[in-house]
Amino acid sequence: MSKFIFITGGVVSSLGKGIIASSVGRLLRNRGLSIFMQKLDPYINVDPGTLSPYQHGEVYVTDDGAETDLDLGHYERFTNQSLTKLSNITSGRIYQNVIKKEREGKYLGKTVQVIPHITNEIKEHIKKAAKNSGADVIITEIGGTVGDIESLPFLEAIRQIRRELGEENTLFIHTVLLPFLPSSGEMKTKPAQHSVKELGSLGIQPDFIVLRSEKNINKDIRDKISLFCDVNIEHVFVCKDVEIIYEVVLELAKQKLDEQICSHFKLETAPLDLSNWELLIKNIKNLKQQVNIALVGKYVSLHDAYLSVSEAIKAAGYKLGIKTNIIWINSEDVNEGNVFGMLKDADGIVVPGGFGQRGTEGKIVTLKYARENNIPLLGICLGMQLMAVEFARNVLNLKDANTIEFDENTSNPVIHLLPNQYKGIDLGGTLRLGAYELELKETSKVFKYYKRFPLSERHRHRYEFNNEYISSFINNGMQITGINPKIKLVEVIELDNHPFYVGCQFHPEFKSRPNHAHPFFLSLVESAFKFKK
Ligand code: GLN
Repeated sequence: MSKFIFITGGVVSSLGKGIIASSVGRLLRNRGLSIFMQKLDPYINVDPGTLSPYQHGEVYVTDDGAETDLDLGHYERFTNQSLTKLSNITSGRIYQNVIKKEREGKYLGKTVQVIPHITNEIKEHIKKAAKNSGADVIITEIGGTVGDIESLPFLEAIRQIRRELGEENTLFIHTVLLPFLPSSGEMKTKPAQHSVKELGSLGIQPDFIVLRSEKNINKDIRDKISLFCDVNIEHVFVCKDVEIIYEVVLELAKQKLDEQICSHFKLETAPLDLSNWELLIKNIKNLKQQVNIALVGKYVSLHDAYLSVSEAIKAAGYKLGIKTNIIWINSEDVNEGNVFGMLKDADGIVVPGGFGQRGTEGKIVTLKYARENNIPLLGICLGMQLMAVEFARNVLNLKDANTIEFDENTSNPVIHLLPNQYKGIDLGGTLRLGAYELELKETSKVFKYYKRFPLSERHRHRYEFNNEYISSFINNGMQITGINPKIKLVEVIELDNHPFYVGCQFHPEFKSRPNHAHPFFLSLVESAFKFKK
């Protein structure tokens, strides 16, 4: 039977609960335990797919095509384990399931209520993750902050699970912020105490507490929390801000969090071996070289909107011993007149994915500049589609070339919709979502970095390269180096006679890990470094 860890947060949001949950996952894996991670989001949206990146940052896509919360990206990067649709559920989805059952008459005329119907649905979801994964430990993060109205059914559900399965099989970890007051030079524990009290009023007494703060926390403060919150002192952990998020794993290991978890569950495991993680941190701290990579997108004011992309760029640098400085450039600010100035410090450029026309003309200007000036560039999804548009307009001389996402009536739809090719494919609405096979030509600049075959990459888009243009692209120097072998769709384009001008229809960033950099980003950063030299 699986053991269950529930991670809640108190005092404020954006505490880094996701990173703590991910670190717990990494620690347990390095003790030889199998794990499965999930995030329960209390908001009413059915999934984060339709949320603006300004709201919750990027939408992370799993192999099986779930559009999920960005915390799942942390989970996968920290634990190097691919998650599934069972890894993320929202209140909206829970209610949708319950209302569907009610309409189908499944509740046999009963009054449908939050307790037990909504809470049962939540519990079922948690237990299904355990059943399907068969993992030793299920780590479930509850989104939001204790005290939010929306979180109540989730907290009630985990309270019931503790009742059903007992203390030995369940563990509550509550993470709280300890604010520092500069005027009195003090760390304040009162908000944390109140948050634990609030949790207690819902029937949950945390087993462990993780204190988040910007500064070191001394023993007196830990003692105080232990006393006032009724948690053993060896179960009060400290997680202060660190420069490299992956270091949280080592910090928590030093405080024996994994040991305490195993002893709570009475789990016998191999001793903790963190050598792979220590090596990663050592590499990150010893980056000898530097490159500047410009990230040209429309949501750059919120870095979380491109979290996986920026982590993938950094991971490539970790592997190559290069510190990657990301220059965040709002594509809406770029035009023909200023592009040289704006990109003068860039050794390489990434044009990431996106939806909608806003900011795309600046991306096209950026692409032309990189193509003509031999600057290494990686275009992802919409970035790749715009590479095709720019190439068609300026090299093939098809002045009105466009994607039909922005001009339905263009006479040169180089990016279009293929209704017939979607037959038999589950599109999850109308988007192509999740992992699809990739056949990459050996001539691709990226090929050498792929170690395992066959290849599969994750998608999240609606429009496709129009195969009618393949021959004129190839004849004019834009090669098609990657295709989907089953449905013959263009997956990768790259320019001849350019150090690195590569576009991919999929999102390589979702498969990058800090200690397994992704081939597309490795190639970009390597080319950028050569360009710099
Ligand atoms: N908007 C484009 C499409 O739907 C690209 C999507 C993306 O970049 N993820 O095809």
